[in-house]
Amino acid sequence: MKVTDHIEQAAGKTLFSFEIVPPVKGSNIQNLYDNIDPLMEFNPPFIDVTTSREEFVYIEKDGGLLQKQVTRMRPGTVGICASIKHKYKVDAIPHILCGGFTKEETEYVLVDCHYLGLDNVMALRGDARKDESYFRAEQGGHTFAKDLVGQIVDLKAGKYLHETIESDHAADFCIGVAGYPEKHMEAPSMKNDLKRLQEKVDAGADYVVTQMFFDNQKYFDFVQAARDLGIEVPIIPGIKPIAIKRHLQILPQVFKIDLPQELINAVEACKDNKAVRQVGVEFAITQSKELLAAGVPVLHYYSMGRSSNIRAIAKEVF
Ligand code: FAD
Repeated sequence: MKVTDHIEQAAGKTLFSFEIVPPVKGSNIQNLYDNIDPLMEFNPPFIDVTTSREEFVYIEKDGGLLQKQVTRMRPGTVGICASIKHKYKVDAIPHILCGGFTKEETEYVLVDCHYLGLDNVMALRGDARKDESYFRAEQGGHTFAKDLVGQIVDLKAGKYLHETIESDHAADFCIGVAGYPEKHMEAPSMKNDLKRLQEKVDAGADYVVTQMFFDNQKYFDFVQAARDLGIEVPIIPGIKPIAIKRHLQILPQVFKIDLPQELINAVEACKDNKAVRQVGVEFAITQSKELLAAGVPVLHYYSMGRSSNIRAIAKEVF
């Protein structure tokens, strides 16, 4: 079922959902299930599965030589979505990236999603590769998420890359896109970034999921600014509980977001990461309760592969 239908069916009740990251290749998928299982009692109608960009690894050759090779360390997004749908009978949403994929490869992924009965896809540009200082589109790939949305919309109309095909069972994907309450790091201004968001919605995006934020006012202002521009689709807040002391540096560095001083002080006062985890959970509970009271459609949690803290939050909020 489509995310927008889940929201409509909930009739104002806030839903619980979360995002998982595929395991590093070679790992047992059971580890993933062990992290999903404890969250199922909160009835997520959908679970997002991220896609990772390709990266370089070094393979040791004879004579101690190192060979640089490009690889995806966390493949399997669509397969994991199919297994989640099969095992838990909930919707699973693959993240589809522009970066690292040609349009042709994207079409294959979308066709797989259609055959597997996945009703939703999240259309994203992806970040720059770790060895590149800025995002570069794959040759024959998309430069912006808006263009990827356009390809998905075309497919919904039976328009494949090589021709339009008469079809009575075209894929009817519900399309999610990313939004940034504190502005995307490359955007020259908030206003410009909102204009880009509007373009994605105009291109056919059905809902927005936000980057993590720790100050709810930034989310409320972002939603208001989007509504003022005429963006009517649901805007789902993304919540990430702080779990380790180093998050104080990592999160602002990677996601270009601010942390409230009260949270920074509480984390800095912690003796160890066990205490940090507790601070992160308590902060996220307060944040979630305020968002819930404001009537957000879904509270979407970034689990980053570990669910115990998300469970602790969900137990208090749902
Ligand atoms: P876009 O919407 O294309 O925007 C990228 C930048 O380009 C923005 O600064 C925008 O303002 C600007 N822009 C847009 N259109 C134009 C234009 N026509 N001309 C000039 N500038 C323009 N990354 C992953 O690698 N894997 C994931 O699974 C993943 N999941 C995510 C889930 C969520 C909910 C969010 C919020 C982010 C996720 N990301 C993921 C990160 C995302 O890929 C990065 O933030 C990326 O840098 C931007 O992606 P986007 O889809 O927002 O890009």
